[in-house]
Amino acid sequence: MSARPGVIYLVGAGPGDPGLMTARALELVASADVILHDRLFPAEALAGARDDAELLYVGKEPGDASVPQGEIENLLIDRAKQGKSVVRLKGGDPFIFGRGAEEARSAAEAGIPFEVVPGVTAGVAAPAYAGIPVTHRDDASAVAFVTGHEDPSKPETALDYAALAAFPGTLVFYMGVKTLPRIAERLIAEGRDAAEPAAVVERGTLPGQRVVTGTLESIAGVADEAGIRPPALTVVGPAAARRDEIAWLESRPLHGRRVVVTRARAQASGLAKRLRDLGAEVIELPAIRIEPLIASEEVVRAVESLHTYALVCLTSANGARLLFDAMDAQGRDARALTHAQVAAIGPGTAAELAAHGINADFVPERFVAEALVESLAELPLEEKPVLIARAAAARDVLPDALRERGAKVDVVPLYETVTEEPSPEAVEAAQDADFVTFTSSSTVTNLVAALGDRMPPRARVISIGPVTSETAREAGLDVHAEAERHDIDGLVETLIRIAGGERPA
Ligand code: SAH
Repeated sequence: MSARPGVIYLVGAGPGDPGLMTARALELVASADVILHDRLFPAEALAGARDDAELLYVGKEPGDASVPQGEIENLLIDRAKQGKSVVRLKGGDPFIFGRGAEEARSAAEAGIPFEVVPGVTAGVAAPAYAGIPVTHRDDASAVAFVTGHEDPSKPETALDYAALAAFPGTLVFYMGVKTLPRIAERLIAEGRDAAEPAAVVERGTLPGQRVVTGTLESIAGVADEAGIRPPALTVVGPAAARRDEIAWLESRPLHGRRVVVTRARAQASGLAKRLRDLGAEVIELPAIRIEPLIASEEVVRAVESLHTYALVCLTSANGARLLFDAMDAQGRDARALTHAQVAAIGPGTAAELAAHGINADFVPERFVAEALVESLAELPLEEKPVLIARAAAARDVLPDALRERGAKVDVVPLYETVTEEPSPEAVEAAQDADFVTFTSSSTVTNLVAALGDRMPPRARVISIGPVTSETAREAGLDVHAEAERHDIDGLVETLIRIAGGERPA
């Protein structure tokens, strides 16, 4: 059910990995009129928000001028009173060190209906991603979530350190990177075993998660030496040592690899997500952007006469998608292709067609124009009208070959690719990349133009296929490997193979 007008939703966004947002959280983010959010949650959490949603950042950063709690509560109530559906999105779980209860209470006092959507709390998720179970049949029958915010040497600390020292189970301290030395000292002074295993998890579930381990006595020093910074939490108890047996994050195929993805933005997310799921840190440099040309006279005319073509060739997934957009704009659908044979250059293009109800008649094994020409060898084309719908700038291998065989070929540009300036942050982040991936010639040309002398110095170039490799070499790049299958799956397989043969730096 989507967000209702006049209601405040206190929603947990999980610990950082966008995959750990709940289905309910995603649904509410997608339908809310207003979203008030913190910093500490997945950057992608807002990706599904409506374009016209009001997004208000009310985060608190240490030492930062932040929006006072009372003001946040007033904003929530004010927007709800305007009849808006309001989502208050918080890191982890809203009721675990999240001040969610205060917001709920002020909504209740104002007579505003509200709902609470629990989230995956960092105190469970960050240890889990570090291979630490917070309870264990053999050595942790209880778990305590503790705030490490307060300085235990101050007399006004609300925490009972004697009770915590005696607690029969795992202690998980949120916050408290700075106070860790005094927390550890105090626990030992109150009788907790100094040799008990302990771990600190920094940026749990996020790219670049770090884990340091030691004993209660040593952990503060270890964390300090490693330069651990917030957000981080500390786990104390025998369960912390289970990491030695069951750490798993590090064994994913692309763990710790930094990979630059250079696809156009609309498609980048697919490849980027695949790589992230395999453990890579992905830097998206959207070198090119797709500019649709579907309102052009040429396209309009081609769509009007779609039923007259004997063969329709699509040479990219973007082309396939935009052809259907163009048809849709004229109130047409897949039935316009009833009389035509349809050829797709590769599996990605075929998948896009299939999503619109068309099973391609021709899909070559290799993802290049030459292979498509070959796969059409048996088709009689003399005097037959053929439509090639594609990018504005593309090679003429396909139209030339079909014309040679007597076809009457119309080449219609459905889109053009334009260069996009990468952000300075992305360029900086790319500098110590391990790999740069290229998925088409235009990604090479545009990335080289955009980065100039700031190409990542030690990154190895992985190309999707021979044409892209050739362009890369012409641009002065050293192509380290080329995908055997010339599609995204093939590219990912190649990366895994190379990364599998060596240990991360
Ligand atoms: N409501 C949140 C906690 C907010 S308090 C929840 O349920 O998770 C903020 C503290 O949570 C941070 O100082 C840190 O100790 C911890 N934390 C939040 N996200 C974290 C992460 N990704 N990795 C490690 N600790 C995290």
